Amino acid sequence: MSGRSLDPQLQRNAVRTGGMRASAIRALFAVVNRPEVVSLAGGMPFLDSLPLEQLAAETGRLLADDGRVALQYGAGQGIPELREQICQVMALEGISAHPDDVVVTIGSQMALDLVTRIYCDPGDVILAEAPSYVGALGTFSAYQAQVVHVETDDDGLVPAALEAAIAAVRESGRRAKLLYTVPNFHNPAGVTLSVDRRAQVARICAEAGITVLEDNPYGLLGFSDTVYPAIRSLDPDNVIYLGSFSKTFAPGLRVGWVLAPHAVKEKLVLANESAILNPPMFNQMMISRYLANFDWQSQIKTYRELYAERRDAMLAALETHMPAGTTWTRPDGGFYVWLTLPEGYDTAAMLPRAVTERVAYVPGTAFYADGFGTRQMRLSFCYPTPERIVEGIRRLGTVLEAEQEMLRTFGVGSVSRPDLRLGGPTAPAPDAV
Ligand code: PMP
Repeated sequence: MSGRSLDPQLQRNAVRTGGMRASAIRALFAVVNRPEVVSLAGGMPFLDSLPLEQLAAETGRLLADDGRVALQYGAGQGIPELREQICQVMALEGISAHPDDVVVTIGSQMALDLVTRIYCDPGDVILAEAPSYVGALGTFSAYQAQVVHVETDDDGLVPAALEAAIAAVRESGRRAKLLYTVPNFHNPAGVTLSVDRRAQVARICAEAGITVLEDNPYGLLGFSDTVYPAIRSLDPDNVIYLGSFSKTFAPGLRVGWVLAPHAVKEKLVLANESAILNPPMFNQMMISRYLANFDWQSQIKTYRELYAERRDAMLAALETHMPAGTTWTRPDGGFYVWLTLPEGYDTAAMLPRAVTERVAYVPGTAFYADGFGTRQMRLSFCYPTPERIVEGIRRLGTVLEAEQEMLRTFGVGSVSRPDLRLGGPTAPAPDAV
């Protein structure tokens, strides 16, 4: 028994808290935030283009005009005006929804928690892309759900692999309840589910009695003018859709939402009330005013142009600095490139060396529930300037060269430290989401 489990308080904790552990690379992430380090690790939006002075004035007006409401308790489902506006936002991706079926949450992270709480008993299976968003894996693990990964390629989730995974889960006597998918500009894979596949995925899940949990924080951040239809628009009865203002506006207000089939919505409101009573009134009213009084669509366009330039800088630098045999995805939107190194590399083992060289990334194992992803890493291009991105990739190239030299000379690279692995039941370092 470890010394930690002898703590009398921890002995009294529920069994499920065993699935709630901080990632061991949290300490490293403190170093990552030093200015000399180029962090390609965090998924933080770049907020410099926000009209902060106008937002400050709007905040003042909100308090002056409506302060008593904004600072008061409110309804568990969220305010009606915002839910109506959310329906207009979702219409941009082909969703026709009624504000009654929308529940406002504290970011889509809270929505992931509420949906898992409602659907999953310990041991239930959640199918999810290989790789998957680290924050969702942490939530699923906290509820003792088992993740079964489904293969993806450049067009997203592979429908035949989804069918095979459903059959395998069934044969093993377990029950798959949800398919968790990020169809647009995937975190971390950077790929987008093709339009044909959306219909196939919706049909396969409906036939198998599995609810689709569609997580779509990046859908409006495409770099071309193509906007993909949400899976929800194809099958409103079997898809729970999660949206967020974190990437299209700002994450600090922590406002996201769930659009759910009616019966699920009722449960979500109860779950929301039991967790938080109600989503913050002030934040909801602020977002509502932002949507009503600001040109939010041109703010999104500004973000898209800014991120596209950074994506271009990263892709060009990768061509120059990566060793032969390395592959990476070419995202058409969002924040992330997913990189796969040749056989022999271990990105978690290499991370301390990379941080010493003043560059950081998230090791691939963070995005798998089952220890895969050793040769992979997620690179974010959202936050650093294009110049810093190029410098970061140059430094990464240096690290990989040294690593290659070790592999050639000794047959092994940096020694793998099991305590630095992010995979499995750990919560991500906040900067790694
Ligand atoms: N889902 C995905 C795929 C994400 O990338 C993120 C944030 N990185 C979230 C959910 C959580 O977003 P928020 O809680 O800020 O809405």
